[in-house]
Amino acid sequence: MSRRPYIAANWKMNKTAAEADEFLDAFLPTQSAGGPEGVICPTYLALARVAERCAGTPVGSAAQNMHFEDSGAFTGEVSAPMLLDLGVDAVILGHSERRQLFGETDEALARKVRRAIEAGLQPILCVGETEAERRSNDTDAVLSHQVLTDLAEVHDADLAKVVIAYEPIWAIGTGLTATPEQAQESIQFIRNLLRGRDTAVADRVRILYGGSVKPANAAELLALPDVDGALVGGAALDPDDFGAIVAAAPAE
Ligand code: PEP
Repeated sequence: MSRRPYIAANWKMNKTAAEADEFLDAFLPTQSAGGPEGVICPTYLALARVAERCAGTPVGSAAQNMHFEDSGAFTGEVSAPMLLDLGVDAVILGHSERRQLFGETDEALARKVRRAIEAGLQPILCVGETEAERRSNDTDAVLSHQVLTDLAEVHDADLAKVVIAYEPIWAIGTGLTATPEQAQESIQFIRNLLRGRDTAVADRVRILYGGSVKPANAAELLALPDVDGALVGGAALDPDDFGAIVAAAPAE
């Protein structure tokens, strides 16, 4: 089953709108149709600019979070209709920094994933274990709980609209990368969980690896049979490094 590679740049709390423009000036001219699906995830404040600049190019734009309600008394939040209004294509949900630092729960994520799909935004759902959970052999249990709970409100027929990012927390921003064996094993495990929901759809869901992906290790990780792309943090701040990672993705 061939799946189009998906490479997402998670800028986290980095880059003003002017700095986003500088990145796009260098990056967008290097991208052509028919390559991997590339998506830039800036802060909310640079999102309008990035969505506007990426419209009509092979590169998409994504938010780093959203609320499951469309409007209301939720100070500091943004909703799916607001993102769509800017022309945004996708939304990262459940990044480990939001789970660990801002109390994101799997129950809220189940509602967010459902709302994103209903609204027509592509959810990029992040899952992954801590270092302690891996050491105590709890990786599979943690992944099972996160994947099954967070996707509980998605109809089987809609599962392929979700992009899943397997991000071992011990590998994010640490310079430690999962070995190719660890990445393949956990991503294959996630795909098998999806087979429990729907065998045919499981083969169509794109599952990314995230955690210290760099130009030097991207080709090896992206060539793994169940790895369909990458969610890139630090190395995505530089247009040349991110361009090299996109270029390392195999053809569909
Ligand atoms: C991330 O932001 O999800 C991430 C994987 O970061 P880094 O590539 O810096 O480890």
